[in-house]
Amino acid sequence: MPFELAQRIKTLPPYLFAELDRRKQEKIDQGVDVIDLGVGDPDLPTPAPVIEALKEAAENPENHKYPSYVGMKAFREAVSGWYRRRFGIDLDPDREVITLIGSKEGIAHFPLAFVEEGDIVICPDPAYPVYSIGAKFAGGEPYFVPLKEENGFLPDLGSIPDEVARKAKIIWINYPNNPTSADASEEFYKDLIKWAKKNEVIIASDNAYSEIYLGDRKPMSILQIDGARDVAIEFHSLSKTYNMTGWRMGMAVGNEDLVKALGKVKTNIDSGQFNAVQYAGITALNMPEEELDKLRAIYRDRRKAVTSALEKIGLSPIKSDTTFYVWTKVPEGYSSTEFVGRLIDEAGIVCTPGKGFGEAGEGYFRISLTVPTERLLEAVKRIENLKL
Ligand SMILES: *Cc1c(COP(=O)(O)O)cnc(C)c1O
Repeated sequence: MPFELAQRIKTLPPYLFAELDRRKQEKIDQGVDVIDLGVGDPDLPTPAPVIEALKEAAENPENHKYPSYVGMKAFREAVSGWYRRRFGIDLDPDREVITLIGSKEGIAHFPLAFVEEGDIVICPDPAYPVYSIGAKFAGGEPYFVPLKEENGFLPDLGSIPDEVARKAKIIWINYPNNPTSADASEEFYKDLIKWAKKNEVIIASDNAYSEIYLGDRKPMSILQIDGARDVAIEFHSLSKTYNMTGWRMGMAVGNEDLVKALGKVKTNIDSGQFNAVQYAGITALNMPEEELDKLRAIYRDRRKAVTSALEKIGLSPIKSDTTFYVWTKVPEGYSSTEFVGRLIDEAGIVCTPGKGFGEAGEGYFRISLTVPTERLLEAVKRIENLKL
C-alpha cells in the first residue's frame, strides 16, 4: 500500500547531514580514526549526585505513576530558586514555570498554541532548525532574519518589513547563540522588547547556553529586563549546563499566559517527564556553582587551544567566550559543504557546514568543543596537513 506523506513532512528541507553521515560512516568502516567535532553533545559525564538522585527516586513506587502535566511542584520550585540565585528574578513556580521533556519538546510545541495557518514566525538564520520547523508544523510560515557578522550575529530588527512584523506571531532568539557563539547585550534585549511590544509579537528566547560562559561576563536572561515578562517566554535546559542531554530535562519560564498556553498544548500531547528524572533535575539545579566552574574551565582551555591553533594555520575563528562552539570562516574558494566534505574525506574530521543551519550560515563551519584538547589539536594538525 503506498503511504502518502503529509505535506508538512514532504516539504521539510533536505537533511543536509545525511550525506555527511554517510561519508563519516564510510571512513569509520575503513578503520579511519575519525574525530567528530560535529555534535553539540557534551563529552563529559553527568555529575554523580544527579545519577544517585535518579537511582533513589526510581526505587520509590510513588514515582512510577503518571507525572503531573506541568511538572512536579518541587522541580518548578527548584527552577524558580535557580533563576533567583542566577539571574536575581522571582518566578512564581505555579504560574510562570513549566517542566519540559527537554527544551526541544517545548520549542517544537510552543507555536501550536499561537500560530494560525499562514501566520509568520520570525526565525534567525543560521539557527537551531527546530524554530522554523516547529513553526511550519503549526501551519505558520518562517521569515528568516540573517545573523550577520558585521552586526555581531544579532538580528537587525530594522530590516524586518512592517508588513512582516504586523503578521508575525512569534520571534525566536537564542543567545548565547548556537551556532555562531555570539552573545547578546542588554541593549539588544531592550530594543527587542520595545520592538515586540510595538508590533505585538511574542518573544521566545532560547537560553540553553546561559551557563556556558568562559569569561567574567555572565550571559543574561531576557527576563532580567524591565517589561520582558509582558511579552516573553524563555526556554531553558539542563542538557548543556549539567551534561544531561540524554535525560530530557528542560523548562519554560516567563509570561504567565504564554506558559499556561504551552501547558495546554502539552497536556493534550504528552504526560510529563518521569518524576525520578525530575528529582535528578532538582539535584542538578541545586549543585554548587564550583562544579560548573570546573566545566567552564575545561571549555575555556579547549577554546583557547583550538582558536590559536586555527589562527596559526591561517583560518579565522570568530572570537567568543560563550557556548562550546567555534564558528569559523571556510577558506576562500570553498562552499561550507565542499570544505566540510574535504575534511571528512581527506582528514577524517567531522564538522558541521554552516549551510546546515540556514542559507546565511554559508561561508562558515562549526567546530564543537566536545572532545578533549589533544583531539582538537590533532584535528587542527590534520587540517594543516591538507595544505589548503
Ligand atoms: C542543545 C540545544 C537545546 C537544548 O535541547 P534539549 O532538548 O533541552 O536537549 C536548545 N536549543 C539549542 C539552540 C541547542 O543547541
